[in-house]
Amino acid sequence: MENITSSNSFHFNSVRYSGIKSGLNLIVLGAVHGNEICGTQAIEKIIDELDTKKKVITSGSVTFVPITNPLAFSKKQRMGDRNLNRNLNPNLNPKYFEDYVANWLCPLLSEHNVLLDLHSFHSPGSPFALIGPANNSGPLEPFKFAKQEEELALKLGVKVFVDGWLDTYARGVEYRCANKNDYPQNSQLQNLDIHYGMGTTEFIRSKGGYGITLECGQHNDLSAPEVAYQAISNSLLHLGLVDGPLPMGISNYQCLRIIEVIDKLHEGDYFSQEWKSFDHVKAGQVIGTRHNGKKVFTNDDVKIMFPNTQALPGNEWFYLAELSNRF
Ligand SMILES: [Zn+2]
Repeated sequence: MENITSSNSFHFNSVRYSGIKSGLNLIVLGAVHGNEICGTQAIEKIIDELDTKKKVITSGSVTFVPITNPLAFSKKQRMGDRNLNRNLNPNLNPKYFEDYVANWLCPLLSEHNVLLDLHSFHSPGSPFALIGPANNSGPLEPFKFAKQEEELALKLGVKVFVDGWLDTYARGVEYRCANKNDYPQNSQLQNLDIHYGMGTTEFIRSKGGYGITLECGQHNDLSAPEVAYQAISNSLLHLGLVDGPLPMGISNYQCLRIIEVIDKLHEGDYFSQEWKSFDHVKAGQVIGTRHNGKKVFTNDDVKIMFPNTQALPGNEWFYLAELSNRF
């Protein structure tokens, strides 16, 4: 599927502020998903404060991308042609609009040390931050800035921290490959790619940086732009890009680990109740029912995350997470 028309109708835009002194280079993204606009609104507010000198970048630099996926943003939808925050890599043969975004965005991310990626979510729930793995030298996501990432996460203003994303995705891909016949024929083929879980934060970690995905609240939550604004302000202070008192860390918080992703297989698959992120699910409790009547449940006490009633067949329906003692 060629999308030349839509590709030619948009350009990409970023704005960068550099301090006199050297320091860390932060990049802040809004609207990686086009219907998640709290980050865009918060970035606009911060840019206004910088332009009117209410804030001044004294060290390092900060780059803002208010609208990372302009096609999805114009459609007021999560994606244009495909999910930008999956399988994110430069693409020699761009086919979908998001492939062109990636060819612009990936080199830009590589110029930075730290990423703050601002999102919102579909069902009601409290804001939370997605962080990367603990330090490791394994094959999937080797990493050595876990401490820096944790320290930044604790300053953003949210109280729930979630890890285990890429691990879970790798297992999800294994499952999809082993159970191809369960999926409808028109499922998106990139779901079977081993790099499927690679989003913005995974990309910057692969280039020697670190990053956090901040889920600021439900898409229409009026407080979400303020959550995003506070996170940017605190990041600028914590990373030493602006002068001022260091933000207070959070002391009463919770760490969770994503352990499984479950795909929707058919339009007729439905949830047993109106789940919201972090709802507790008891062992054996029915989460949903497949179109053929098969019940979906777990054998352990877990929490549900990102339940998406509007998931397309072949795409992520919900995730399961458990309490962790990460930090
Ligand atoms: Zn998102």
